[in-house]
Amino acid sequence: IKERVQELGKDDIFYSFEFFPPKTESGLRNLMARMGRMSVLNPLFVTVTWGAGGSTSRKTLELASTCQQELGFTTCMHLTCTNTDKSIIDNALQKAKEFGVRNILALRGDPPVGEEYYSPDPNNDFCYAVDLIRYIRKNYGDYFCIGVAGYPEGHVEGSHDSEQDPAKDLPYLMEKVSAGADFIITQLFYDVDKFVEFEQKVRLELEKINKQDTLIIPGLMPINNYQLFNRASKLSHASIPTSISNRFDDCIKTDDDKVKEIGVEILDDIVKQIYRKTNGRIKGFHFYTLNLEKSIAQIIDRSEILSKVIANDEFENAIDDECIDQ
Ligand code: FAD
Repeated sequence: IKERVQELGKDDIFYSFEFFPPKTESGLRNLMARMGRMSVLNPLFVTVTWGAGGSTSRKTLELASTCQQELGFTTCMHLTCTNTDKSIIDNALQKAKEFGVRNILALRGDPPVGEEYYSPDPNNDFCYAVDLIRYIRKNYGDYFCIGVAGYPEGHVEGSHDSEQDPAKDLPYLMEKVSAGADFIITQLFYDVDKFVEFEQKVRLELEKINKQDTLIIPGLMPINNYQLFNRASKLSHASIPTSISNRFDDCIKTDDDKVKEIGVEILDDIVKQIYRKTNGRIKGFHFYTLNLEKSIAQIIDRSEILSKVIANDEFENAIDDECIDQ
């Protein structure tokens, strides 16, 4: 990823897509067809999520291998390190290397189900994401380009007894970069000002450790349906500015087509604002696709900034009644 970004021109923009491995064969078939069509959108890279505790390890590896080897995407595999047997991590890294996957998003993982707060056990090999980064660098040198998670509104366990606060996570984010991370992808957000404040603070800290080349990539989730939008923002602790929530009055909330249409306008506006408010410092945008293509394609098509990336105008959005496949 780092190399591909370095190859871009000074004013070039890029975007990337996150996919998750479907549980069923039919879900996988649909996803493959969608990813095939989405390749025309020319994402700089795609990422494949990893189920907490290694629960999707086989499917994640299969999908990452397909993305890299069959579909020709520059692929980044997510990998979490807690509540996981070390052999699962070793196998995942080894297989990723065999498949030619050269990018890992190194994550800690959420606390086990039922536990609100995470309590690290110092006897474990991995307590935080930084331990995984150190492990990868120790065993694989520079083979992998490593990404990490950043939280514009603060990670929710930043503290057991106070509000989430991005300032509390900042030293740990710098620790991850110092340990060898090359890029930061953020948690999804809808409040651009919070992101811009985060981005400025992160850049100041990166300068102090002489890592100003570290990429900061905002994570954006399209709005496909009102309930999902609400649930995803609550789960991710992303605040919704009133300028956005006001756009969904009660009669619109249940009209999925209208919600999608407004969602595309909102995301287009978010991209524009990020670009403008960071004076073009942000070059890349990461989309949490939820394995759906329609709204992504519409956002890119509508956006003056993103539409320049499309290789040609062959993209045909063939799906009329797209739904999330498991
Ligand atoms: P860390 O960087 O380890 O931080 C976790 C918390 O611990 C933070 O509050 C931080 O401030 C604190 N902390 C960090 N280091 C230390 C330290 N040395 N001492 C004390 N406190 C410390 N989850 C999945 O299961 N699968 C996925 O595929 C996945 N993909 C994701 C992709 C992105 C872009 C993002 C933003 C999140 C993703 N997650 C995924 C969720 C992620 O696993 C959780 O948010 C998890 O709770 C934290 O992971 P982290 O890597 O940010 O942890």
